[in-house]
Amino acid sequence: MSITLTILSLLFCCFVGYSVGSHLAWHISFMSWLKDFVTPKIKAIIGGTSNDEAVSWTKCPSCEKLIYNAELAENYMVCNNCNHHFQISGKARFALVFDDQKYTEIPTVKIKDDPIKFRDTKKYHDRLKEARQATGDQDAILVACGNIGNLPAVVFSMNFAFMGGSMGLAVGKTISLAAETAIKNRAALIGFTASGGARMQEGMFSLMQMPATIASICTLKEYGLPYINVFTHPTTGGVLASFAMLGDIHISEPNALIGFAGARVIEKTIKHKLPDGFQRSEFLKDHGMIDMIVSRGNIPEILRGVLDYTIGGLYH
Ligand SMILES: [Zn+2]
Repeated sequence: MSITLTILSLLFCCFVGYSVGSHLAWHISFMSWLKDFVTPKIKAIIGGTSNDEAVSWTKCPSCEKLIYNAELAENYMVCNNCNHHFQISGKARFALVFDDQKYTEIPTVKIKDDPIKFRDTKKYHDRLKEARQATGDQDAILVACGNIGNLPAVVFSMNFAFMGGSMGLAVGKTISLAAETAIKNRAALIGFTASGGARMQEGMFSLMQMPATIASICTLKEYGLPYINVFTHPTTGGVLASFAMLGDIHISEPNALIGFAGARVIEKTIKHKLPDGFQRSEFLKDHGMIDMIVSRGNIPEILRGVLDYTIGGLYH
């Protein structure tokens, strides 16, 4: 009896194995036929190409709509469905705001890496190396000078992709260099901020950049030159609590998070529920901290007007 059962079980297993195997083989051949034959035919009919880059899409994190990459780039990396502003690089900002996309980059101030030999789950040295490889930048800021509406401007742009746009020695000293360059060129200084705050891996050296950058902006103002801060998502912590709040004019991209401490920390401290939209640019404009909210595509035009109003008299 047991021999009969064993033979029957073996036969059953062979049958199941065969049918699963043959089904799998059929599925694989169907998928490769679909990929190799049908998809190129469909692409040819609808005018697509076989180039992966040309058919790539990005999902908007806000409304979840799939946006064609070329369309996104054409719209200054802003979702055309919900107006979500994607983060962009410093070079993309410079190309957007300077006349005829012409500008000269000023090298970021170089300092000795890792001044306090910091290590958490990773060595600070390794974090810097990774961020440099990922962004192609030396640190979380780029500076350039050129003309906006035929008037001289020095523009710096912080890069959130580089260690959360955190401010250490290199960022702080580069902001001071940007202010000095603006004084030398009798130019307006414009900052695009995006930062999680001070860079904890540099300890006290990063906190010292708060008064240092404030002093540089104040010196610029003593020369009668304007500082315009453009808040982008997010601008928080020690960057907000120092130079970012010293703009003569505060412009913000829509729906940017702008605040010193996180909303949850504040709620726990004051034991009160915070209002809707707290720390977003629209809320801050209603309460007088932001002068205007401008969509990315309109920022060059607004800056031309602001520069004409503030330093136009020095040149016309
Ligand atoms: Zn969207």
